[in-house]
Amino acid sequence: MRNNLKARKTKPNKSINVLIAEDDFIICQELAKTITDWGYNTFIAKNGNEAWEIIQNKDVRIAIFDWMMPGINGIELCRKIRERSHEQDNDAKYLYTILLTGKDQQADIIQGLSAGVDDYMTKPFDFLELKFRIQKGVRIIELEEKRIRLASFDSLTELWNRKKIFGLLNEEFERSTRENNPIGVIMADIDQFKKINDTYGHLVGDHVLVEISSRFRKSLREYDKIGRYGGDEFLIIIPGCKPEDLIIIAKRLRKSISEKKIETVAGPLNVTISLGGVSSISFPFDSPEKLIQASDKALYIAKSKGRNREYFIH
Ligand code: GH3
Ligand code: MG
Repeated sequence: MRNNLKARKTKPNKSINVLIAEDDFIICQELAKTITDWGYNTFIAKNGNEAWEIIQNKDVRIAIFDWMMPGINGIELCRKIRERSHEQDNDAKYLYTILLTGKDQQADIIQGLSAGVDDYMTKPFDFLELKFRIQKGVRIIELEEKRIRLASFDSLTELWNRKKIFGLLNEEFERSTRENNPIGVIMADIDQFKKINDTYGHLVGDHVLVEISSRFRKSLREYDKIGRYGGDEFLIIIPGCKPEDLIIIAKRLRKSISEKKIETVAGPLNVTISLGGVSSISFPFDSPEKLIQASDKALYIAKSKGRNREYFIH
């Protein structure tokens, strides 16, 4: 191994966990020290089995591993990583793999690539080259994260989109059932929004949607979830929320819109919303779909009772 680059400290990137799996103690220590000096968070495995254990339990984003290792070898490890990502959902984080190998025949390299490794380096390797190959991995991970983020967000309001908020509701529902902790679900809808569009135009309507989303975000806690469920409809999930607190939160949301005019290019506008809410306590053994249906029904009642109000189904 040639180490012709004196490890230079670079901007810390502590959020990225790098796994090093190598049975040669000296190489492993040297890799760990250098990669840590480059600003990454490192985990060390002496063999393939330990590596697999760490991958399953830590948020490893880049794995650098030897081909020949006791237990699971590098090629098998890579296959396991790729099989796991097939079994996970689309939002699972990508694990970028770099295979270190003493084998440099074309057939060996093809075998590594066909197992799903993203990159490989033949021993003896150069640290500077490894540094740039890790940076290439970081770029790919970041692009993948951006793609996932974009696929989950509503581009106008920057809230979660319908698919994502429904997925989050599923997760929260499972958690609440497991931990016997209630969740509150609120469906909110802008009153007479069509009229705003018809009177002032769609761009003003868009601005109203953005402002309402921003006020909602400010009125909620960090661990509450909010998404744009439809055109002018929002779904809000409040974990660990008792029914009496749900009413207080819904009132707060409603007042955050009604009590302050929205400034637009067409002048300040009075806008109101209606809300329908339900607590999972009222539907203890039911599904997330049932909670949405119930909050939709409650919203419909709030609208029919005259709008600018909240209604709850108990
Ligand atoms: P209600 O009080 O019963 O909710 O009446 P409403 O007018 O708000 O309800 P309706 O469902 O008739 O109208 C919703 C409107 O939202 C119709 C649609 O054109 C508009 N809309 C949906 N998405 C967007 C968007 O992204 N931007 C803008 N500007 N308008 C949108
Ligand atoms: Mg509406």
